[in-house]
Amino acid sequence: MTPDDQARADIVEVGRRLWERGFVASNDGNISVRLDERRLMTTPKNVSKGFMTADMMVITDLDGRKIAGDRDPSSEIKMHLEVYRNRPDARAVVHAHPPTATGFAVAGIALDRAVLAEVITTLGSIPIAEYATPSTEELPAAVRKYVKAHDGLLLANHGALALAGDVMSAYYRMETIEHFAKISLVARTLGRENLLSRGEVDRLQGLRGMYGIASPAPICTDETTVAGGDQRDCQVVQAPLSGERLVAHTSQPPPTGTDAEIRLTYRELTALIEDAVRQLK
Ligand SMILES: [Zn+2]
Repeated sequence: MTPDDQARADIVEVGRRLWERGFVASNDGNISVRLDERRLMTTPKNVSKGFMTADMMVITDLDGRKIAGDRDPSSEIKMHLEVYRNRPDARAVVHAHPPTATGFAVAGIALDRAVLAEVITTLGSIPIAEYATPSTEELPAAVRKYVKAHDGLLLANHGALALAGDVMSAYYRMETIEHFAKISLVARTLGRENLLSRGEVDRLQGLRGMYGIASPAPICTDETTVAGGDQRDCQVVQAPLSGERLVAHTSQPPPTGTDAEIRLTYRELTALIEDAVRQLK
């Protein structure tokens, strides 16, 4: 099997898994593989990703112009091209609309809390790229802000995006995003999330090398915070500084009464103190 044939077979398999797991409906989603320095292979438009055949794939140049194939590439190819331009290490991109992760993207809640050890090691935080109309030039611009530092993104009011060195790994990252979203939803429904300490986050990210994760540490850095603009997108780097576990209260209303215990995140406490100081001035 030639490398191109292998890419065709892998894309068909990833499409089947996306559909089977309910990560896409109708003709949603798209998958691409960077074949070499000038060619990309991608899924065609207007096809269910669960029922593709190898001959349906489209080959384009790195500007998205078709080189070979009977069908046309998805208009969302622009978003993939933007990923490849900004991430020389990326060889594959998977875009889908997994329901729980997309629910977070609709609610405007980033998956950026330091709560799951494996997610911190593999993906770090998963920010939300600002809303942009699908298939316009706005969407690549929104993705550009985050993709240099992140291997997985939510797309506001739209879906999710994952990238990796090969297409199966990009697909597994999409699985991890949706799995993380499901766990976060359960924890938030139960009313609390115990955050891991900053020290533990540093330790977990130190394990990346051991797992061969060579991409830039996909956590919010000062640089991406400035670029992204919103501090709330960077909670994972703002986990508690001590070894102590802090609790983030989420969906449940705070208890009432003067003796009631309330719990605050590190960020909420800092904000309260800053407000108080400001009022004193
Ligand atoms: Zn989409």
